[in-house]
Amino acid sequence: MVKKVKSSVTYAKMRGIVSYFTALIKEKKFVSNDLMQKFGSSHPIYRHLDSDGFLRPDDGLPVEGGATALCFSNPAIQESSRVSAADFDYLKVIGTGSFGKVLLARHRETDEYYAVKVIQKHTILKRKEEGHIMCERRVLLRTLNHPFLVRLHFSFQTRDRLYLVLDYASGGELFYHLQREGSFVESRARFYAAEMASALGYLHSLNIVYRDLKPENVLLDSAGHVLLTDFGLCKEGVVGDATIRTFCGTPEYLAPEVLQQREYDRTVDWWGLGAVLHEMLYGLPAFFSPDRAEMFKNIMSQPLVLRPGVSAAARDLLKRLLHKDRTKRLGAKHDLAELKCHSFFSSIQWEELVAKRILPPFIPSLSGPTDLANFDPEFTQLPVPPSLGMCEGTGMTFPGFSYMSENVDTASSHAKGH
Ligand code: AMP
Repeated sequence: MVKKVKSSVTYAKMRGIVSYFTALIKEKKFVSNDLMQKFGSSHPIYRHLDSDGFLRPDDGLPVEGGATALCFSNPAIQESSRVSAADFDYLKVIGTGSFGKVLLARHRETDEYYAVKVIQKHTILKRKEEGHIMCERRVLLRTLNHPFLVRLHFSFQTRDRLYLVLDYASGGELFYHLQREGSFVESRARFYAAEMASALGYLHSLNIVYRDLKPENVLLDSAGHVLLTDFGLCKEGVVGDATIRTFCGTPEYLAPEVLQQREYDRTVDWWGLGAVLHEMLYGLPAFFSPDRAEMFKNIMSQPLVLRPGVSAAARDLLKRLLHKDRTKRLGAKHDLAELKCHSFFSSIQWEELVAKRILPPFIPSLSGPTDLANFDPEFTQLPVPPSLGMCEGTGMTFPGFSYMSENVDTASSHAKGH
């Protein structure tokens, strides 16, 4: 069990501060320019922020799959005219991300429910993020078979927008539940951490580094299993111990080597897992300070201080995942295999876990497929743009974007009745 901080006033205050910051990040992935400038004056790493303060990958570098290289050689991935924006009813906004809105939508013919990520083309083009959206789509197509990664069913485009039709995770964000409950008991945190680790290990086996693990990107399906989403910051083609140097991600969860703009590798994801596990167990991000600049300094140079109230195994795992030296971090040598052997996970039967035969510790309560109880009213109250279902020609800005699963019925059958 997690022991709460003794003074409830202090704890409540801290939660309030965390909620404030996390809401800010969640909404805009926004980095306070003031703080950044303050901090950046002695740490030049923040010159890589764009005008909105959004941390962009590959700034100044040639972007894989950029606007001029969006055609795919894979014949299975072809422009599809069989599914279009007009085939769906767009019911509610359920989230907003760095690229646009995510809506709950129903396929008119099959009555299946999906989460549809709608992206304005002009936003992408203005921010020169074509590479990232195509990377997200590409990663989604390469990871169709993992139980804890959100699945892409269709993608298509209209003149002004791109659409990614995904599994609908009706349990909402892990962040939403964590925010409401403060922290999770250890067994629950272990279950989520194991499912996340399994998904990350799978991505690494495909030479993909996820780079953006944080509670907002961890969704729950209707049964309470993890679904990782948002592959826009993934880096593909990272083989073995290969390193990357691009500065990107969400500040609170960045590994020290990324903050310091040093070379990094797939172990940034194990740091991210440590950061999320810390937040699940203690209710606050690791190295937390209400002063964000202070927090970055803590991440880079302060030793990890862990309060009691969490088991020795959990604390040991946190220390090993949040090791500042990536070469000594758990997972540096044998990736997921090393995590699986840690005593914190000794009760996890990994094959059972991946087969989804372990009963989730929390089953989201839902009265029906359109019950949005697990989504923040901050999003569900947003208006649904009436023009979403209009097809005014596809334009050719993003050739190769459209995709349809081989078999529409099979592909969508999972989501029926949430
Ligand atoms: P993203 O743009 O991928 O970061 O998504 C923004 C937000 O939309 C997420 O933080 C979730 O709250 C919500 N969201 C994204 N994908 C899904 C999904 N497949 N099912 C349910 N909600 C989602």
